[in-house]
Amino acid sequence: MARDTGPVCRQCRREGMKLFLKGDRCYSPKCSFERKGFPPGQHGMNRRFKVSNYGIQLREKQKIRRSYGLLERQFRNIYKKASAEKGITGENMLIRLESRLDTIVYRLGIAPSLRAARQLVNHGHFEINKRKVNIPSYTLVPGDVIRVRERSRKTNVIHEAMRHLHQERVVPYLSLDKARMEGVFLTRPKREEIPMTINEQLVVELYSR
Ligand code: SF4
Repeated sequence: MARDTGPVCRQCRREGMKLFLKGDRCYSPKCSFERKGFPPGQHGMNRRFKVSNYGIQLREKQKIRRSYGLLERQFRNIYKKASAEKGITGENMLIRLESRLDTIVYRLGIAPSLRAARQLVNHGHFEINKRKVNIPSYTLVPGDVIRVRERSRKTNVIHEAMRHLHQERVVPYLSLDKARMEGVFLTRPKREEIPMTINEQLVVELYSR
């Protein structure tokens, strides 16, 4: 699957906020954004220009897209599906993003970053409702049970992931049973429960142009 392989920390600096793409490093003083909180590039530190409405909408879209580690085409497809649903398009889009298997593995704290979660899923370490699933974009519905597969429990990568489990980051719409290495997608998330400080309405405005 195609993916963005460019420098990760540069994305945070470009968007002017921490996107938490590198796991534990993001919470340490080594974080690039903490050390160089200005846009990347030769003139990054001296950039002073007025940003148009279009520019503001574009940056907000990029923030969300990059936070979830998606390419433009993947992101736009999610938007299209969200806009075809009933309700508020921006919220629908976020709910769709939060219902993806890779996002849920990350939110459960089993992986330190979304990229790491995606890799664990790709390598076939999880099952949903007792069936192996290795598709990061797989969409869960409330009631789905996600488990680390029996044969994966002893592998180093999962062992390490569980040892450093970030249980404090588990969101209200998920529950985690660490001993059983199992989580449940309890309910569709409400907007206020999604830990993203972004304005999704700007994405709707951008794509509605
Ligand atoms: Fe962003 Fe994390 Fe890099 Fe900091 S360490 S700049 S939060 S990806």
